[in-house]
Amino acid sequence: MKFTELGLSQPVLQALELKGYDTPTPIQAQAIPPVLKGDDLLGVAQTGTGKTAAFMLPSIDRLRQSDRHAPRKGCRMLVLAPTRELAGQIAQSARDYAALAAMKVASIVGGTSVGRDRQKLARGVDILVATPGRLLDLVDQKAFQLDGVEILVLDEADQMLDLGFIHALKRIVSLVPPKRQTLFFSATMPRAIKDLAAQYLTEPVQISV
Ligand code: AMP
Repeated sequence: MKFTELGLSQPVLQALELKGYDTPTPIQAQAIPPVLKGDDLLGVAQTGTGKTAAFMLPSIDRLRQSDRHAPRKGCRMLVLAPTRELAGQIAQSARDYAALAAMKVASIVGGTSVGRDRQKLARGVDILVATPGRLLDLVDQKAFQLDGVEILVLDEADQMLDLGFIHALKRIVSLVPPKRQTLFFSATMPRAIKDLAAQYLTEPVQISV
């Protein structure tokens, strides 16, 4: 199996070529076709399996297809991650994969200047990677709004619960339009995560690697 067989666009395939990736990992091979089609996804997977590209590559193509503009003080794709470190890694991968697709990527995490975040977000971004607390701060300050989100990704949902982000997470999801594509990843599936997934996903494709 090669990336070229999965239905991805030329700009995305070229970005993969630049990175030297030609063979999808199992989660990528299973996730990319349904996400490209617009399905919701429930992925049980650890970091290191290639899950960032599994959700990022087809999402970039979904954004390309719908061809809307990034809303002012808003984004089209929102990726929530539990830690600053993970958010930074996802944002870097997103920049690499989106480089030739002309998508603007930003990340906002706690512990940095809020003023700088406000500037970064003022003109809007296509893809925003954020930790939940800082994102809510900006939403509460009216520096950012979530009503333009077309694709919502929750990464390492079990960690988000463990770190006490459940209320922030629920508030954020309540502010995202219900008509959206949702991709939900967790390394483990305890009861609380299953319940969240059932609440947030519509007829998801389920993948476990
Ligand atoms: P992740 O699970 O998303 O954190 O990815 C783990 C690592 O594998 C990252 O360093 C990726 O850049 C790399 N990676 C992802 N997909 C592939 C692929 N298809 N071929 C080779 N390396 C990959």
